[in-house]
Amino acid sequence: MKIKNVELETVCGITSKLPDNQLVEVAFAGKSNVGKSSLINALMNRKSLARTSAQPGKTQTINFYHITGLVPEQDESTDSVNNVAKKEKEIQLYFVDLPGYGYAKASISAKEQWGKMIERYLHSSKQLKAVFLLIDIRHEPSANDRNMYDWILHNGYKPIIIATKLDKINRSQIAKQVKLIKTTLKAEPETIIIPFSATSKQGRDEIYDTIGKIL
Ligand code: GDP
Repeated sequence: MKIKNVELETVCGITSKLPDNQLVEVAFAGKSNVGKSSLINALMNRKSLARTSAQPGKTQTINFYHITGLVPEQDESTDSVNNVAKKEKEIQLYFVDLPGYGYAKASISAKEQWGKMIERYLHSSKQLKAVFLLIDIRHEPSANDRNMYDWILHNGYKPIIIATKLDKINRSQIAKQVKLIKTTLKAEPETIIIPFSATSKQGRDEIYDTIGKIL
């Protein structure tokens, strides 16, 4: 996917009405500091539109980014030699940045607000088609991660796992860490896990492909 345009269209706080969007939404969840802003920026080809967390426990909002992109037209008849001439079609969707969880120093009321916001969104969005759950590839998923995984599942979505900060481990450790994430989350066997690095952008095309299949 090539990004043509991105716009932060709606920012929802705890009391805001959620937008009644007509376009497909894909959401991103994960604990604070997991690399969610960095991932969303990498997917949008922007350096810092989604904030990277300088201040943990920052205001909890749900942010809707309106994305216009170009994807190759699916044309079975085009032979690979003619790839250069392949047509592209325009697609539009929302990236939904859900507030990060698990910030230890957040007050109880802040944690409650967080839960209510996410629940309200997962329950009420008519256009949500996929939920990406971000897990740091270096660590065993936490109790909060497991709860989030189950929560997404119970709301009727198959979580797609993005294992972040891929560049921080050796290649030889990748398979072992992916397996650890799968087993700790008790993920269904067919669960998609995409290792990703915001630094090298490794994994980005696979995420774009996954999104392309949803649209
Ligand atoms: P968020 O709180 O989930 O939005 O996390 P951020 O995107 O703000 O990232 C938290 C910290 O991890 C920042 O210092 C980022 O620079 C760093 N970070 C995020 N993704 C990566 C990555 O893929 N590789 C490396 N090396 N650092 C990362």
